[in-house]
Amino acid sequence: MTTKIDTALNEEHRLVTPPTPWEDVPMEKWNDWRWQLSHRLNTVEDFSPILNLTEDEIAGLSAPGAFRVDVTPYYASLMDPDDPQCPIRRQVMPLGQELVSFDAQMVDSLAEDQHSPVPGLVHRYPDRVLMMTTTQCASYCRFCTRSRIVGDPAENFGSHDYERQIAYIEANPQIRDVLLSGGDPLILPAKILDNLLTRLNDISHVEIVRLNTKVPMFLPQRITDELVDMLRRHQPLWIHLNINHAKEMAPDVVQAVAKLADAGFPLGSQSVLMAGINDCPNIILDMVHTLVRNRVRPYYLYQCDLVQGAGHFRTPVAKGIEIMEALRGHTSGYAIPTYVIDAPGGGGKVPILPNYLMSMSEDKVVVRNYEGFISTYTQADEYESHDPETCEACQARQRENKQQGVAGLLAGKKRTIEPRSWQQTHERSQD
Ligand SMILES: *Cc1c(COP(=O)(O)O)cnc(C)c1O
Repeated sequence: MTTKIDTALNEEHRLVTPPTPWEDVPMEKWNDWRWQLSHRLNTVEDFSPILNLTEDEIAGLSAPGAFRVDVTPYYASLMDPDDPQCPIRRQVMPLGQELVSFDAQMVDSLAEDQHSPVPGLVHRYPDRVLMMTTTQCASYCRFCTRSRIVGDPAENFGSHDYERQIAYIEANPQIRDVLLSGGDPLILPAKILDNLLTRLNDISHVEIVRLNTKVPMFLPQRITDELVDMLRRHQPLWIHLNINHAKEMAPDVVQAVAKLADAGFPLGSQSVLMAGINDCPNIILDMVHTLVRNRVRPYYLYQCDLVQGAGHFRTPVAKGIEIMEALRGHTSGYAIPTYVIDAPGGGGKVPILPNYLMSMSEDKVVVRNYEGFISTYTQADEYESHDPETCEACQARQRENKQQGVAGLLAGKKRTIEPRSWQQTHERSQD
């Protein structure tokens, strides 16, 4: 029996022999993730038999000291050999342009190292941390925000780091959400990942763990029944994929993603908006529709970070707003990601939207919809204000000492938020 999921993008039959030039490789090897990892492509000689390389790609592959290249044969097999603009190809093939710097670029644009209480742990928000578990990935995205450490085997994290990371999480009871990232945590030996998840689940204040991975796209063979069974023992586990184009949802990926969805993991996708890859409302529409057909909820659409080597992927923010305008109302709400700028300097994710609120008076709010239809919402003229004094949830929160931010202003905790030394600057005396 075929379902909608099977037929979504899977009209092509699954492979019976590996694609050229791997046709002599036995199918069991091709489908073995270990074989895929040990046969990754990284040089001009490796790619020449499968792609008509451009001069820019040859320059990128030959650049000394550039960010690591490693592409699984599987992911390489999805590339269009004759189209250098192929969205699969653009994500992992280095270009000479990576070496061109731009004014605003930074090595660590999100100031992650500054927000690291212990190596590999980024604690930016009060209740959640990002934990880098490895610097290794199945393949390396050219737009990687962590290219400063990722791909470098000499910079890898190990058990000593995990102990310090876990000790920090244990000592900070406000942390209820841990994001396993890297590198790619699904590259870790299953036993190590199993142990890490067990340790995290044993911490009573850790309510959920999230796993950020692109392994299901780069190396769908890794999503074995055995791996899924191990992960299932650690629910609630949220899995975030990184998909930037519908073309990545190839048949083997569809199958790997279905395994994860069947195992009950809530699936999300974080995408990066990139020039020449997905900077088009219709490409994004195709992508989000492909995602939801495969039970993956589009979560974030990121403005490309100001990271060194990724300048040629950047788009104007206007492009993101144009894309969001083309989504809301035009497709299912659950197919719409939140478009964010991850604020340089470590401000975290800031949502960006077109304006829907047009005007307001004491009793009316004027809004516009996606069609340009303008409507008024009449506000309640009798509203009995919520009373935090008698609300248990408010009382419980008040006892915690949280970073309150702008919400703290609204709650009347503070009257202003001011830059450091703002007071002194304005204490101007007469003489
Ligand atoms: C993205 C991110 C998170 C998680 O943010 P959510 O908005 O909860 O998904 C947490 N910590 C860091 C450092 C991040 O970059």
